[in-house]
Amino acid sequence: MTPIEIEIYKSYAQNIARPLSCETPVEISVAKIAKRYDAIFFDAFGTLYAYQNKVYPGALSMFRFFREQKKQIRLITNAATKAKEELLQEVNSMGFDFSLEEIFSSGEVFKDLNHEWNYKSAVFIGNESGKSYLRAAGITDFSDRENAVVITSLPGEDSLRETILKILSRPNAHLIVLNPDAYAPRIGSERVPVTGTYAYKLHLETGCRISYGGKPFPKLFQNALASLPAGSRTLMIGDTLGTDILGAQAAGIDSCLIPGRNMETAVLTRDEELLGLRPNYYLNP
Ligand SMILES: [Mg+2]
Repeated sequence: MTPIEIEIYKSYAQNIARPLSCETPVEISVAKIAKRYDAIFFDAFGTLYAYQNKVYPGALSMFRFFREQKKQIRLITNAATKAKEELLQEVNSMGFDFSLEEIFSSGEVFKDLNHEWNYKSAVFIGNESGKSYLRAAGITDFSDRENAVVITSLPGEDSLRETILKILSRPNAHLIVLNPDAYAPRIGSERVPVTGTYAYKLHLETGCRISYGGKPFPKLFQNALASLPAGSRTLMIGDTLGTDILGAQAAGIDSCLIPGRNMETAVLTRDEELLGLRPNYYLNP
């Protein structure tokens, strides 16, 4: 991880304020997971597929195996930039067969968060269809009237940055981040900084209040857990320590990291030490 990525994920861990587990992980097979767990939470991007919808080798067969085994399956994603219906279509076009009810998007968490804030207006940075999450939370206009800015993906135009900076420099400005991911993986190339990093830098630059919805923060996990039959033994499978694994620990469920997806395996041990957390398992398919 880069120094800023460590700083960001450490700030998330502090925010969550729960003791983290750093026990040595053990390797686990897909078959063993099926024996030990009733419900599987999948991360999407970087775990099942990556940039340009490239499905990782083995991801589809693992998914189908859990389906055959009649496991409860959920997609727990920070990809809030798209409406859930659009996301569903996209993942299923890659060969998965999720239902809408099995998808839990960080976008939906805004509704829970906004119960407390009760914003009626917010500037939105993200794909047009992502506005559906804000409308569902009672946002009726997308102006800067209330100095709230909701971000789900990087702004397409540089000119927008000036506008955002101006709003966030106001005394009671509030930046709400619905995709806390600091970096995104690319197959066969460098990882790139994304929304979490962009928002954190805006927060440092302006001193604005910053709030997060999505992994690793608990609400998204709580919503997904509430959809399961009582007593389900649940495992989160993901590629990112600071979101999937930290989030699973914060939610009190076990976690399994797929090594080599988001970062070189050799770097992983150092990152685990820096963040002070480890998954329960490494996947060995
Ligand atoms: Mg991921």
